[in-house]
Amino acid sequence: MAEFDFDLFVIGGGSGGVRAARMAAQRGARIGMAESGPMGGTCVNVGCIPKKLYSYGAHYHEAFEESRGYGWKISSAPVLDWEILKTNRAREITRLNGIYDGLMVNGGVERLQGWARLVDAHTVEVSHPDSQITRHTSKNILIATGGEPFVPEIPGRDLAVTSDDMFDLPEFPKRLVVVGGGYIACEMASIFHGLGAEVTLLYRGDQILRGFDDEVRAFTQSEMRKAGVDVRLHSEVSRIEGSANARKVHLEDGQVLDADVVLYATGRKPRVEGLGLTELDVKQEKSGSIRVDKHFATNVPSIYALGDVVGRLELTPVALAEAMALVDHLFGPAPGKPARTVDYDLIPTAVFTHPPIGTVGLSEEKAREEFESIRVFRSDFKSLKHTLSGRSERTLVKLVVDAASDRVVGLHMVGADAGEIVQGFAVALKCGATKAQFDATIGIHPTSAEEFVTMR
Ligand code: FAD
Ligand code: NDP
Repeated sequence: MAEFDFDLFVIGGGSGGVRAARMAAQRGARIGMAESGPMGGTCVNVGCIPKKLYSYGAHYHEAFEESRGYGWKISSAPVLDWEILKTNRAREITRLNGIYDGLMVNGGVERLQGWARLVDAHTVEVSHPDSQITRHTSKNILIATGGEPFVPEIPGRDLAVTSDDMFDLPEFPKRLVVVGGGYIACEMASIFHGLGAEVTLLYRGDQILRGFDDEVRAFTQSEMRKAGVDVRLHSEVSRIEGSANARKVHLEDGQVLDADVVLYATGRKPRVEGLGLTELDVKQEKSGSIRVDKHFATNVPSIYALGDVVGRLELTPVALAEAMALVDHLFGPAPGKPARTVDYDLIPTAVFTHPPIGTVGLSEEKAREEFESIRVFRSDFKSLKHTLSGRSERTLVKLVVDAASDRVVGLHMVGADAGEIVQGFAVALKCGATKAQFDATIGIHPTSAEEFVTMR
């Protein structure tokens, strides 16, 4: 008889948990998994996927307008049917939930529906309102419970919603107030503006998207404003008042804004409540995230954690990479392959604002701190498409180069398809590409991306 029911028990069926369970099962390990909600976690249900679908939806608005310059005549103003968008999104997400479930069940993972809690270093308890509490032992336990929205304590907090609620709002908001200036606030502001809402974004600091290149931040803010999002800086909410869907947002400076929906996008916190971490003395950071070493091991030898709950970089591809590195560490690498580790350097990312941002490597400001001398190349232009579309949207591309080695250490873009374009260039940066190699690369004409190889 085996000493434990499982070799690995995974808590959380999101990006990291599913990948770890699937890859470990492929190595022949006995895997259990508990998920309290629908499979796929944040990314599939209330994150990347529905967000990107709604972003595509919002782009049609621009496309209808732009098409006139290309000769299209649209006889009546296009109208968004919110119910159709929600229904189609929900159908696609349900399909994905099924695929994730199938990956587990067909991959030999024992899948349990319910809330899991640590009982001891090798035992997990799973509870569900419709079934009896069950206990499972495992040689190792992986916590991949992700995160959840954080909303500060302000009077009227209950009148605000979070990103989790935005995809299924019963009524489409005519007037939306978004609080925050990070990824989610900026993306939601752009998307809902594109879908037809009047959007005001309130950010407490001097510029949105802290941590990104300063020029990228200013450029994005200016483009969002030009598109029609009312971006207000140095704006803090003192209280929210109102009823069902007529809220009044009171600002510190005395202004009052009317809104149908108030979205708080003020960051996320690790989902650790009720897991039993304190009882087992699993060490956490001040933020609540679980402290792990380079192999994702906590201070309790059989307990591991990865993904948003450890809060290194809260991105789906990072959770996936961490999961694969953990599986190689616990069960050995795939035959003929080296054990994978996670390199947190040069991780590309996109912000799906309209226009979107794509970025990899250092901002100009960070590069100035890190290198003795840098060279910066930038180009800010109207894309060919908009010469006829009538839109005044501009595109920014920027390279940051270490002068001593000639290596490109930062690459940034604000403009159509920035995420798609920067993904490719990220490979070049990962290979240590120099500015001379960028210069020696022939462009693809006519594209916006060719600017990256033609700036001198
Ligand atoms: P999650 O995907 O959150 O999965 C955790 C799972 O654990 C959940 O399903 C939860 O129900 C379950 N769970 C929690 N506690 C328990 C328990 N005790 N018992 C049982 N189950 C439990 N990233 C990108 O790379 N690109 C994007 O475009 C992007 N867009 C985003 C948009 C939004 C609005 C949000 C909120 C996030 C976005 N992200 C994006 C971030 C991305 O979704 C996360 O980084 C990723 O989902 C993290 O994966 P994870 O496995 O750590 O956690
Ligand atoms: P972020 O940390 O990106 O942004 C939080 C924002 O809220 C910041 O502007 C912050 O301001 C502000 N804020 C924090 N506390 C308060 C407060 N008390 N009052 C007012 N404003 C406040 O978090 P998000 O929730 O936007 O996103 C979480 C993570 O999810 C991201 O970091 C990213 O990793 C991931 N994500 C990725 C996406 C993608 O890949 N496209 C899309 C969406 C999310 P300040 O800057 O002043 O601190």
